[in-house]
Amino acid sequence: MKKHNFNAGPSILPQEVIENTAKAVLDFQGEGLSILEISHRAKYFQPVVDEAEALMRELLGIPENYSVIFLGGGASLQFCMLPFNLLEKKAAYLNTGVWAKKAMKEAKGFGEVVEVASSADANYTFIPKDFEIPADADYFHITTNNTIYGTEIRKDIDSPVPLVADMSSDIFSRPLDVTKYAVIYGGAQKNLAPAGVTFVIIRNDVLGKVSRYIPTMLNYQTHIDNGSMFNTPPVLPIYTALQTLKWLKAQGGLAEMEKRNIAKAELLYNAIDNSKMFVGTANKEDRSLMNICFVLKEEYKDLEADFMKFATERGMVGIKGHRSVGGFRASTYNALPIESVQALVDCINEFEKLHA
Ligand SMILES: *Cc1c(COP(=O)(O)O)cnc(C)c1O
Repeated sequence: MKKHNFNAGPSILPQEVIENTAKAVLDFQGEGLSILEISHRAKYFQPVVDEAEALMRELLGIPENYSVIFLGGGASLQFCMLPFNLLEKKAAYLNTGVWAKKAMKEAKGFGEVVEVASSADANYTFIPKDFEIPADADYFHITTNNTIYGTEIRKDIDSPVPLVADMSSDIFSRPLDVTKYAVIYGGAQKNLAPAGVTFVIIRNDVLGKVSRYIPTMLNYQTHIDNGSMFNTPPVLPIYTALQTLKWLKAQGGLAEMEKRNIAKAELLYNAIDNSKMFVGTANKEDRSLMNICFVLKEEYKDLEADFMKFATERGMVGIKGHRSVGGFRASTYNALPIESVQALVDCINEFEKLHA
């Protein structure tokens, strides 16, 4: 039976990306060696990193005065690496979920942290809109897509201070105006590659401004100066990222991705909104195109396990909601075909015929 992969992360990748990666594991570009057993210094690997960077620049429209680096450690390492490099006195954070909170916690070790607004009291079901960014902050940090709660900031906002965004779960889902941001980072395992690689896009002028000593490995400049090759980078995930970037370009780029992502999200949100049994959890105007969260209405709450079983039997994978929200979450990343969304909608409708 065909599986419909709604996993939140690590998550679905395009089939041809997986096949190209598998081929390179068996024989890397006809060299008679696996990508798993070559040196990252080997002449054949540098072009992989170079091409991945070039394609990121092309797809996102990253200007010359920005650097693009590939690191290990996940987005979670960026929660401390970022303030280590950028926070001298004060930083501002928008608290839109657990990931934002974790980022804030780390920053507190380096300076004053101002929480400009929070939706914690409403279990992060919306994105706060009315807030003031302190003009003397070293940077303002946002989480563009809140993977757990299904809320998203889909507009590139204006900030009077350098804007930093954790885009782990919505990078490449829509065209971006990179010039509005000073730093964009994310773990690649949601929309780009398998786990193991983190991308960081940095406007060069924000670096070199803190007075503390920064350990070599945690210093962005180290990795910029060495083209992500200061130490052994995550070779295989970078290779897979390159395959995804090529796929993105061949599909028509980020405008096409956004079109498809809107179509997929509308299909599922409409089914939820028209449903007698289910209801969405996120505030409508803040709903994410990437993670669609819904629960059974109070009078049907007993049927949660039944729906889970019903959907699993029909090939749905990864639709269990995060434990802090409950219910269901369908992640509809770039690689997920609309046919999978339709299959989930069919499940919702059929289940309702049986129970509502
Ligand atoms: C998954 C996720 C993270 C954590 O990423 P790791 O690479 O596991 O550290 C951080 N932020 C957001 C928005 C995420 O979705």
